[in-house]
Amino acid sequence: MMADGTESESRKLLRRLRDTLAEAGKGQERLDRITSLIADSMGCEVCSIYLFRDDDTLELCATEGLKAESVHQTRLRLGEGLVGRVAKMGKPINTGNAPSERGFRYMPETGEEIYSAFLGVPIQRLGEMLGVLVVQAKAARQYSDDEVYAIEVVAMVLAEMAELGAFVGEGEALSAPHQHPVLFRGGTGQEGTAEGHVWLHEPRVLITNPVADDPQAECERLRDAVQKLRLSVDTLLAKADSEDGEQQQVLEAYRMFANSRGWLRRMEEDIHRGLSAEAAVEKEQSATRARLNDVPDPYLRERLNDLDDLSNRLLRILTGQGHDTGAAMPPNPVLVARNIGPGELLEYGRKLKGVVLEEGSVGSHAAVVARALAIPLVIHAERITTEALNGDRILVDGDQGIVHLRPDENVAAAFRDKIAMQAQAMERYAGLRLLPAQALCGTTVGLHMNAGLMADLPSLEGSGAEGVGLFRTELQFLIRNQVPKRGELAALYSRVLDAAKGRRVAFRTLDIGSDKVLPYMKRVDEPNPAMGWRAIRVGLDKPGVLRMQLQALLRAANGRPLMVMFPFVAQFEEFLEARDHLLREIDREGQLGHVLPERIEIGAMLETPSLAFAPKQFFDLADFISIGGNDLKQFFFAADRENERVRRRYDTLNASFLTFIGHIVDRCVESGTALSFCGEDAGRPVEALCLAAMGLRTLSMRPASIGPVKSLIRRVNLAEVRRVIDDEIRVGRTTVRPAIMDWLSRQNEGL
Ligand code: PEP
Ligand code: MG
Repeated sequence: MMADGTESESRKLLRRLRDTLAEAGKGQERLDRITSLIADSMGCEVCSIYLFRDDDTLELCATEGLKAESVHQTRLRLGEGLVGRVAKMGKPINTGNAPSERGFRYMPETGEEIYSAFLGVPIQRLGEMLGVLVVQAKAARQYSDDEVYAIEVVAMVLAEMAELGAFVGEGEALSAPHQHPVLFRGGTGQEGTAEGHVWLHEPRVLITNPVADDPQAECERLRDAVQKLRLSVDTLLAKADSEDGEQQQVLEAYRMFANSRGWLRRMEEDIHRGLSAEAAVEKEQSATRARLNDVPDPYLRERLNDLDDLSNRLLRILTGQGHDTGAAMPPNPVLVARNIGPGELLEYGRKLKGVVLEEGSVGSHAAVVARALAIPLVIHAERITTEALNGDRILVDGDQGIVHLRPDENVAAAFRDKIAMQAQAMERYAGLRLLPAQALCGTTVGLHMNAGLMADLPSLEGSGAEGVGLFRTELQFLIRNQVPKRGELAALYSRVLDAAKGRRVAFRTLDIGSDKVLPYMKRVDEPNPAMGWRAIRVGLDKPGVLRMQLQALLRAANGRPLMVMFPFVAQFEEFLEARDHLLREIDREGQLGHVLPERIEIGAMLETPSLAFAPKQFFDLADFISIGGNDLKQFFFAADRENERVRRRYDTLNASFLTFIGHIVDRCVESGTALSFCGEDAGRPVEALCLAAMGLRTLSMRPASIGPVKSLIRRVNLAEVRRVIDDEIRVGRTTVRPAIMDWLSRQNEGL
């Protein structure tokens, strides 16, 4: 606790600041008043406020003591000079001899060389850097801890006020955040476009009263809120599965933080220095976030994340903001979140027009669900949760991985044109729905769709898919918090077959592990999960769930034909073993008197290069093979499909990869084994064309891709495409893409 005198000084300063901010006036006037107020209260010659003009540039926006002409003229890049360094590090610089400090930069227009003492603190809100607040004095002295604290608190209040738009109206840097158009370049999680309004999964809590007069009353409010928080954590703990030791441990640690005396004490100290209860919580939260950025240890980061989460809850309790306020979803909601679990996303369901995530990856659970729901998804839209407010207008371009937040009218108009063009194309594709994907040379390619939810099945009719080439069964496991029961699964698979109306459905057995971790499965930490204990490896080592799933499939078929495919088979033996499990279950079901499928096809997914070189016996025994191109490509090039840094490095139309695909086709032709391709590339028209030219006669893709792929295949001669590919490979080209694109554009000219 601080000495009483200093404490009241800090409170006095905050109260004066609040009164100043409450007075009417434009942004610039307010900033000017604030700088003179601080200089006066702190007894120093200079007080200046620098705000970000753009991501990289700080601008002097108000000053007391420096030359007035330098306001809005003096600019610094992030990291430049002491001010730039404060912004870059996110930490204060406090020195009695500024000119000798590392990074000092002399700015003659400000006349600052005569000031020795320098204290700069970041103006930031929950890790979002807005600017720098600086005080300077002639006397060569360092500011005391209490003075640093007071300036930090003032900077925090400034950040809160900026958030509320207190400085709007004077130039770019003074404008409130959350008003300008912002463009985010992320990655594609699911193609498609959407126009709508932001719906924040975890809305930001706005603090309207950072300064408070009555510390006693504020401390009471804080203690009440903490008590409520503790009770809610206890309830959470009581509800949790007591059998699940890990979950208990995690929640116990969470409760420990909620009960932490140190946390409460620090917040109470902040209140005594003049902050409101909310502002005190947020100050602690900012400190936690700052530490998060510095801690590489994943265990500690998890703990700090817990603390961050608790602070959020506490803020919601104190302000009454957030999910429990019953705010209505805006029309055409676009969900914006740091990340979201598959279950939560599924709960929102198809009412969402789009999803934008800061994290996520193409294969993440959220992406899988978004794809199944055919909702455009952009991932890696960094900082969007900081920028976006509920209700903001937003345009999502899932094709390019681009998001326009609060777009201006020109951008919105161009975007609408694009959507209209897509709608026209969709109409064209709808006209092809009942026609085969027959190329000009007479070759026909079977186009099937990928699915994973019951909700996907209606697309079978609309898209014109011939069947379901890949039914990913893991979604049913991912969206529950316990292993689904055999009866539940059998009922679901049966409904899938009903909806398919006799069309073929290739059910893939559970493909978990790697990025797909079941919430109720004991997490196994592996150095490289994508190459670890996943898919059929789990199924063979712990066959209980696999066998239960096979039983469910057999019962669901109830006499109808059944296709079962095993994922991630790397060698013949694994296929034999998995197949044996199925044969045993067929036997058992027969003995139990269940009706057996009239025909069973047993296939494997070829997702590792090794399987392409399996003995001929494998190709003879498999009823069908489906190339899982997503995995196959990552292992062929040793480029992690989840890693944005490397995943685009190797083109699917790479000559080596296409040669390899040709080898797989040859082996299947030799043994007469049906072959399909069900990775994401099957749904990209140019890629699909080349795969077909390499000899693939069945492609399975997202339903929305069937129209575009069919439309292209019907316009070309596959034998000619193959000739282009072969020529390019012969001359030693790395990728055949430029030649194919060139050939296609010549075809288009001819049409
Ligand atoms: C693949 O790997 O291409 C595939 C279809 O399986 P998943 O994307 O589910 O791993
Ligand atoms: Mg795969």
